[in-house]
Amino acid sequence: MLKPKKNLGQNFLVDKNKINEIINILPNLKNKTVIEIGPGTGNLTNKLLENSNKVIAIEIDEDMINLIKNNQIINKRNLILIHSDILKINLNKLIVNENDVYLISNLPYYISTKIIFEMFKYPKISIFAIMLQKELVDRIFANSNTKKYGRLTIAIGSLFSLEKKINVPKECFKPIPKVDSGFIILKRKKINFDYNLFLLFIKDCFAKKRKTLLNSLKITENPYFEFVKLYLIRNKFKLNIRAEQILIEDYLKIWKEIENAKFKNK
Ligand code: SAM
Repeated sequence: MLKPKKNLGQNFLVDKNKINEIINILPNLKNKTVIEIGPGTGNLTNKLLENSNKVIAIEIDEDMINLIKNNQIINKRNLILIHSDILKINLNKLIVNENDVYLISNLPYYISTKIIFEMFKYPKISIFAIMLQKELVDRIFANSNTKKYGRLTIAIGSLFSLEKKINVPKECFKPIPKVDSGFIILKRKKINFDYNLFLLFIKDCFAKKRKTLLNSLKITENPYFEFVKLYLIRNKFKLNIRAEQILIEDYLKIWKEIENAKFKNK
């Protein structure tokens, strides 16, 4: 048995009941292409292969690649196994002939947020079914006006509908990590605004957590300060409202108006 590599986030999901529970809440994978980041020992990969058309698995650790290659139980007929760092690979080449791809992974936690934001760049990935540390899951699903509600909540809530969530206690993994996890399913929405510019705006809104929204925009010299101020007045928000008190829907409304105004000015 290989020694799990801590620096690569190798906490393997070994609880068979939990693996089945995860497989059972996934959308139908028939005829679907699945991307799995970090197949590890292949415990999830095997189930994905049974249910889908094809699995593209990207793994950084050569030992794990060899383990899967030599595992007779894994049916490799519809498996494309790639030895690479997910943050250094261009997935477009691999999914050029696909229309709709699902990302299903127990992510390595040391880079989970980086991976999520990297994967957002591929519009063909319509479903994100991912395992994350509970702390991140709580931030993604946070209600406004709470400490956990922030940039991540809005970045994900504006681009995805949050479909499902199950708790995964730390004892389900080997070695047992320090924190519990959660498995969540996100479904990409069709959007018609510039997501990257929206994220930059949200970054400024939350830049100064202890200040009001308007102060945060002022300090960061955000170009839409005056616009947001007028929006707040027109829509009867208090001018001392804080960024975490504003709902995702309202951020989207503000941004839509900003985009419309920009368009008109051109
Ligand atoms: N899928 C397995 C499971 O559920 O038990 C393993 C999950 S383990 C949490 C994370 C896996 O991601 C490990 O196999 C690790 O080697 C791999 N990994 C870590 N960093 C990676 C990277 N940058 N690119 C691709 N794979 C990576």
